[in-house]
Amino acid sequence: MLRLEKVSKSFGSLRVLREIDLTVARGEVVAVIGPSGSGKSTLCRCVNRLETVDSGRIVIDGQPLPAEGRALARARADIGMVFQAFNLFGHRTVLDNVTLGPRKVRGTPKAEAERRARALLERVGIADKVDQLPAALSGGQQQRAAIARALAMEPKIMLFDEPTSALDPEMVGEVLDVLRELASSGMTMLVVTHEMGFARSAADRVIFMDGGQILETGAPDEFFANPRQERARDFLAKVL
Ligand code: ADP
Ligand code: MG
Repeated sequence: MLRLEKVSKSFGSLRVLREIDLTVARGEVVAVIGPSGSGKSTLCRCVNRLETVDSGRIVIDGQPLPAEGRALARARADIGMVFQAFNLFGHRTVLDNVTLGPRKVRGTPKAEAERRARALLERVGIADKVDQLPAALSGGQQQRAAIARALAMEPKIMLFDEPTSALDPEMVGEVLDVLRELASSGMTMLVVTHEMGFARSAADRVIFMDGGQILETGAPDEFFANPRQERARDFLAKVL
């Protein structure tokens, strides 16, 4: 579903991604972990072209990611992204937040978009919040609304960049539960996370990044029980 081939990216003289090769199969859940500044967010941002890459190739469902224009907009519509901060439209109701994308980008009729939005809000457990403004929701509810909004576009892949890092601790679980449900439903997911318990239990594969490189990749049980790279061991010693 997603393939990166020798993707490199620098900001000025800072090399943030160094020839990253990565494949995510359809239905696979890949957790990306690593220290702050290792390039995890930049990796996500390159995949939906919020950043341009300097070299290398990104292929989504067999199609190279277009550089610009309508083709890029179409490709982006297939990539759901959920950030650390909730990024909902503050002056729109939850229902509007979830229906705007399908209506504007996919041309879904209003009634159909609303019917599907209600089903998604039910799925993430906030069906009773449809008519509220985001500010009336807790952080965990806002993040679940953001997930519903991304799902409304029927993406081929979902990217999550530390979706629980900005949440109060008591709200982390409810968002991880939504991610778990999504993972078990067969969604293809790339999840940057500091939640090692989640990575271990929900991911099919863990990727450890440091210094703009993928230093280690493996099955979660194997990786957490027996990390091969010293830097991975150091990182786990600090976070576990
Ligand atoms: P992570 O998400 O793993 O913490 P990032 O991808 O956010 O890492 O950042 C990797 C490195 O790139 C950091 O040193 C960061 O300061 C730098 N960086 C990220 N975005 C920019 C930018 N737009 N301009 C300059 N430097 C950036
Ligand atoms: Mg980051």
